[in-house]
Amino acid sequence: MPIWNPEYESMDREALAKLQLRRLQSTVAWVYERVPYYKEVLDASGVKPKDIRSLADVRLLPFTDKTALRDTYPYGMFAVDLEQVVRVHSSSGTTGKPIVVGYTKGDLNTWTELTARIASAAGVTSKDRVQLAFLYGMFTGGWGMHYGIERVGATVFPAGSGNTERQLLMMQDFGTTVLVCTPSYALYIAEVAEKSGIDIKSLPLRVGLFGGEPSGEGMREEIEKRLGILATDNYGLSEVMGPGVSGECEYQCGLHMNEDHFLFEVVDPQTGEPVLEGEEGELIITPLTKEAFPVLRYRTHDLTTIDTTVCECGRTMARMRKVRARTDDMLIIRGVNVFPSQIEDVLVAIEGIEPHYLIIVDRKGSMDDLEVQIEVAEEIFSDVMADMVAFIKLVTERLFSVIGLHAKVRLVEPGTIERTAGKARRVIDKRQTD
Ligand SMILES: [Zn+2]
Repeated sequence: MPIWNPEYESMDREALAKLQLRRLQSTVAWVYERVPYYKEVLDASGVKPKDIRSLADVRLLPFTDKTALRDTYPYGMFAVDLEQVVRVHSSSGTTGKPIVVGYTKGDLNTWTELTARIASAAGVTSKDRVQLAFLYGMFTGGWGMHYGIERVGATVFPAGSGNTERQLLMMQDFGTTVLVCTPSYALYIAEVAEKSGIDIKSLPLRVGLFGGEPSGEGMREEIEKRLGILATDNYGLSEVMGPGVSGECEYQCGLHMNEDHFLFEVVDPQTGEPVLEGEEGELIITPLTKEAFPVLRYRTHDLTTIDTTVCECGRTMARMRKVRARTDDMLIIRGVNVFPSQIEDVLVAIEGIEPHYLIIVDRKGSMDDLEVQIEVAEEIFSDVMADMVAFIKLVTERLFSVIGLHAKVRLVEPGTIERTAGKARRVIDKRQTD
């Protein structure tokens, strides 16, 4: 599989470190001069741009959290005049004001280059016909992938998200070979196809580029099986650019990170100190070439590990493990730490369970109550009562062995749990609304 930009993607790691340092130094100088927020926090911590003499000196810099980006709404973090900004996107803030990000012409060019790398790594070529079923609009997902895939030379169908019947019609009539969307939407498309009697595996569809929400290996296998494709994972967030931060190659052994444009750190989420190489921690990202919206040490809250060993594909860029969990989606139930991804892993491994589930946490009196609703195959649902009871017992025991808690398992009919064309809602924590 060809590498989009071998000069950088396969560059010598020593040369890469030098390039990163040079770019880090100019980024720190850039924000110090142009963003009052950074001038203030750097002055307060007594750090000047000239103090950055090695890559390790990045630790002298303060972290940037979502709050800082919200407090400076809408344009307070921009490092250039609006006149130089040619595009603005915003994050889907579920509460309060969104985070607004801007791009210069140069930023858009970089972004397109990086999403072109991601698309190529997944195996997209000019021969492909790509159906982009991501949300367009203010969300970065649709537009970011769109231009990168065009740059590769593939034919893009900007379908947008939703209207699944139409997506399937396009897939059949337009001869789609690549699907871009969230993993949960890919499964939903498969489900609608199965219901409508469309044999998706007989279509030319061969590769999927999935991102926008955490998902595990079990989910990947399910997608590959039901759609008959190679499913690759890619990662990005609008605060540092959008999609294009990292993506998998055909070996699916972690997401190659575009280290020439971003500096990555993994830290202990509690102490902020670096973890040992290969250990899990929170991913911190400093974009190194952004003009309009540069941020220092952005706290992603995403948990991952980094692997710098050489990949079979020939890229030297380090790889991050698929993001399965976030520091802020951990549930504390009866004093036990539980990640929704742990529950998902148990469920997808059990035959007969559909990959649609809902975790409901509530408080009954002083006790936390955990309920897991799962969709099961028609056969199981219509089974005799005794078999259903045994099935619930099996799921309850498997969950207990992994999370150490008794969950109330409720089987629901296929199609009951809400489907979305974007990020799936997996958890309802009723304790927060009391
Ligand atoms: Zn690789």
